[in-house]
Amino acid sequence: MEEKIVIEINNLTKVYTSLFSRFKVKAVDNLSLTIRSGEVFGLLGPNGSGKTTTIKTLLGLIFPTSGEALVLGKSPREVAVKDRIGFLPEESYLYPFLTAEETLDFYGQIFKIPLRPRRKKIDELLELMELNHARKRPVKEYSKGMARRLGFAQAIINDPDVIFLDEPTSGLDPVMSRHVKNIIIDLKKKGKTILLSSHLLADVENVCDRLAILHKGRLQKVGSVKELLSQDQISNVTLKGLTPELQEKLKKMVTQAGAEVVNVQLASDTLETLFLRTIKEDPDEKNSGGDQPDL
Ligand code: ADP
Ligand code: MG
Repeated sequence: MEEKIVIEINNLTKVYTSLFSRFKVKAVDNLSLTIRSGEVFGLLGPNGSGKTTTIKTLLGLIFPTSGEALVLGKSPREVAVKDRIGFLPEESYLYPFLTAEETLDFYGQIFKIPLRPRRKKIDELLELMELNHARKRPVKEYSKGMARRLGFAQAIINDPDVIFLDEPTSGLDPVMSRHVKNIIIDLKKKGKTILLSSHLLADVENVCDRLAILHKGRLQKVGSVKELLSQDQISNVTLKGLTPELQEKLKKMVTQAGAEVVNVQLASDTLETLFLRTIKEDPDEKNSGGDQPDL
């Protein structure tokens, strides 16, 4: 795997000042991250933790208050960089009266893709997102999941090298969520670099190479799921047929041996436990200013 740095965030801080309020919100606080070519990187955090702000800065949609955010070694405001970026916004901005076909045609034209390859690309994308049956229906008739998939198709119509996905699985049922995750894994196989955000832990755990946990704009932890969990010295024991009695016996045995049973749940919930504890352990949690919504 190529070790080229694709996304570089150095001491990024973003403070929002509202015209109508005396309050300032530090949405991102001295964040530094490096994402390499071919990585799927997850920004994980509760609502209001600064994920969207970080992504918007990387897209050049907003300016940092201090620090810098570079994509492909350059400011994301440079046109040459913009052409190589794909973006799925948190809320899909789709025109309700256009059909899926027309929507993708519109975005394909924005990227100046000539008619024939554009049609081919649209067919491919509608197939990939399982929207072929609804290609001639106006978007206003779409379910949330369908609209999300169309948004995804739109985000990758220019065959971007770097893809930003803000909450890609939100509003999707587990089957569609898995489908979207498979698409992300396929894109990774094609060598794309992907930064995605989520507050849904199970949705990122088995798709991201590395994760960053954000809380109140600050980086709390970064690493692979494996590293993050081993940092915390947590092991998973997979059992079948665990009765309440056996669970009690095990607990006693473990406690006597000087260890601790942290969690008895499905294995996939382990990251959730880490996440919730990380947020709780944040020293700033105690003197919360109340600007940001709680968990
Ligand atoms: P996330 O995507 O993790 O939910 P955001 O980046 O959207 O978080 O928001 C981080 C913080 O910044 C929140 O407290 C939010 O209310 C605040 N915020 C976001 N956008 C603006 C804005 N345009 N003006 C003022 N405050 C904002
Ligand atoms: Mg957001």
